[in-house]
Amino acid sequence: MIETEWDVIVIGAGVAGENVADRAVQGGLTAIIVEAELVGGECSYWACMPSKVMLRSASALRAARALGGAREAVTGDLDVAAVLARRDEFTHGYSDDSQVEWLDSAGIGLIRGRGRLTGTRAVSVTSPDGTVTQLTARHAVAICTGSGALVPGIDGIDTVDVWTSREATSAATPPATLAIIGGGVVAVEMATAYAGFGTEVTVIARSGLLGGQEPFAGELVQEGLEALGVTIRTGVSPSSVRTDGDAVSVMLDDGTEVRAEKLLVATGRTPNTGDLGLDTVGLESGGWLTTDDTLRVIGAGDGDPIDWLYAVGDVNHRALLTHQDKYQARAAGDVIVARATGGTVSDSPWGTHVATADHQAVPQVTFTDPEVASVGLTATAAEEAGYDIRVVDFDLGSIAGASLLADGYTGKARMVVDESRSVIIGMTFVGQDVAELLQSATIAVVGEVPLARLWHAVPAYPTMSEIWLRLLETYGRPTA
Ligand SMILES: Cc1cc2nc3c(=O)[nH]c(=O)nc-3n(C[C@H](O)[C@H](O)[C@H](O)COP(=O)(O)OP(=O)(O)OC[C@H]3O[C@@H](n4cnc5c(N)ncnc54)[C@H](O)[C@@H]3O)c2cc1C
Repeated sequence: MIETEWDVIVIGAGVAGENVADRAVQGGLTAIIVEAELVGGECSYWACMPSKVMLRSASALRAARALGGAREAVTGDLDVAAVLARRDEFTHGYSDDSQVEWLDSAGIGLIRGRGRLTGTRAVSVTSPDGTVTQLTARHAVAICTGSGALVPGIDGIDTVDVWTSREATSAATPPATLAIIGGGVVAVEMATAYAGFGTEVTVIARSGLLGGQEPFAGELVQEGLEALGVTIRTGVSPSSVRTDGDAVSVMLDDGTEVRAEKLLVATGRTPNTGDLGLDTVGLESGGWLTTDDTLRVIGAGDGDPIDWLYAVGDVNHRALLTHQDKYQARAAGDVIVARATGGTVSDSPWGTHVATADHQAVPQVTFTDPEVASVGLTATAAEEAGYDIRVVDFDLGSIAGASLLADGYTGKARMVVDESRSVIIGMTFVGQDVAELLQSATIAVVGEVPLARLWHAVPAYPTMSEIWLRLLETYGRPTA
């Protein structure tokens, strides 16, 4: 028999929901999670983890082939079946038993079913067998329902058995040919993964790859994909799609056609808020939920935050990334405890209970070949935000540590400096194995470390981190 009254009710057991509930329980409150599918959510089963497993083995093979001495030892091809078996190990055959065990050990309640708000601090749960349970929250309800793939309204799309990221990350075997609509992170990562499996891939990306990143990121990723044999069609849009025998035919607006065994649409995300009872608390259904920096939902009308309702993770559209979702969840769980127990709320920028970094210090890695690792603002975004900036670029291939990593290493780094404060507000690295450089840049951005002090953070020789020294030397030494 499930208790019907809890301090906190969380709808959705993805990374956001799990972490809100965990922090609330650690703070002494009771919490229950309502989950309609698998505890662990998208990241564990259909997103971060399977996609990265699908990318890693071919990437390691390419790295070995790029290195004299190792290259000669690589005599075989990628074992695609073994890669997909490894993917299945990571996704536990789509069983969430271990995550449910963790919830239990953390003292978090779980109710399976679809949750809907039915009024202030009230949630009804319809279980798979149709039973309806009414829950009440003493303090807070957190909506952590995530996002799903956005399928674009292209003529004929409803008649075609399209892949979204879910099918692309869970396929039992790779298709011989794959067309991908989209040029964002999911599109380029899946193009890289399937090209590694030997699939003939065509990417259809109207406005180029990785828009929103520094322009050289998309350009270098495009070169990398083309080197893997991927065809990139930019400047064209699909006008219609249809099934034609065993193939999907995509007609483009320049009159050409792309045919493939499978079609992946990777054109963005849509919030899981369609059937959530938002209307019962005066909010509109179907849209992204706007929050304040303590993750409380902003109400319709007066625009004040609703004091008991939180939206955490993808569903609030602040930053659709697992690590930012968890960061928000730590802030939200802790502030729910503080508000419930009469504790002090620390809600000024960079305080304990706010997700300040979401605005201008979001780190992101795109696991392509080359990788793209970025944090903070691009030069264009910084200019648009009114910063007086100086941009410093440096060729990563000329760093000793990089030249050791691969023969003919190529890559690029960009540092965006806020001249008025002499601090870094954006950094982008593109190249093999740049992902692990990113945290140093994130610390510099979040810590607002003055450039004069960064001169004293000496990178070890010969490592990739020497890129820091070269960027600072190119900028010129500021006076302390
Ligand atoms: C292909 C792909 C690769 C990605 N790779 C990365 C990566 O490498 N790194 C990274 O940081 N991010 C990555 N992301 C993004 C990351 O997966 C998401 O940001 C993250 O999973 C969102 O977590 P969440 O908790 O907000 O939502 P979700 O994980 O979507 O969880 C929401 C949960 O709520 C449940 N739910 C929804 N509605 C209801 C309801 N009414 N009642 C009950 N339960 C409900 C759902 O079943 C789900 O379990 C990737 C995304 C994709 C698509």
